[in-house]
Amino acid sequence: LEQEQVLIIRLLSDDFIDRLRILQKAREHLLERRVLHNDLEAYRHKAQFDSLTTLFNRAAFMETLQDESLRVTRDGGDLSLLLMDIDDFKGINDVYGHLAGDTVLAALGQLLCKLLRREDMAARYGGEEFAVLAPFTTQHQALRMAEKLRNGIAEYNFGALPPVTVSIGCATYKPGEVLDSFIQRADLALYDAKKSGKNLVRFR
Ligand code: GH3
Ligand code: MG
Ligand code: MG
Repeated sequence: LEQEQVLIIRLLSDDFIDRLRILQKAREHLLERRVLHNDLEAYRHKAQFDSLTTLFNRAAFMETLQDESLRVTRDGGDLSLLLMDIDDFKGINDVYGHLAGDTVLAALGQLLCKLLRREDMAARYGGEEFAVLAPFTTQHQALRMAEKLRNGIAEYNFGALPPVTVSIGCATYKPGEVLDSFIQRADLALYDAKKSGKNLVRFR
């Protein structure tokens, strides 16, 4: 009888160790999955955002622009686009260095977020170019918004650096319009603003 008890205890103990191993394995799998999930989230974030300014990147912006233009063509409503380019940015880099230029870009990213409404989308469109997509925004409202941004930036204190100004081109979407044409109108308006003396807002 004693031998039998010893045998049962040994079997139970083996079983217990097996269970423990399985639990240990499950725990490892879970941890692995969590790491993979976090990596995936980080890649997703990287694919959508610009790290210097923390704004959306151009690819994410273009995707939303496409979606929004389709929505307006289907359901109607207003959609405005602002293209913004820093005035004489090359000069800032040349005089204060590229790193100072980078801090201006980062500060502008933060400032844009602060000045915009929640439903507006701000993106780094290129090196020192920004884009803002403003849904439910008429031409009149877009111009007011652009003026507010232009002013807010011109008045912002960049610390050791001199004031920075931007030129802004606006366009309002015509339902059914090809995206390239919509963007080109904002781009031409931006060109108008530069040609007319910079630190200005223009509309096309
Ligand atoms: P304009 O008023 O006509 O826009 O003149 P600009 O000097 O701003 O325009 P230009 O296109 O001649 O120069 C843009 C400069 O922006 C050149 C480039 O070195 C700088 N730039 C682009 N991307 C970055 C960046 O990520 N960091 C820094 N520091 N500079 C950048
Ligand atoms: Mg430029
Ligand atoms: Mg520029």
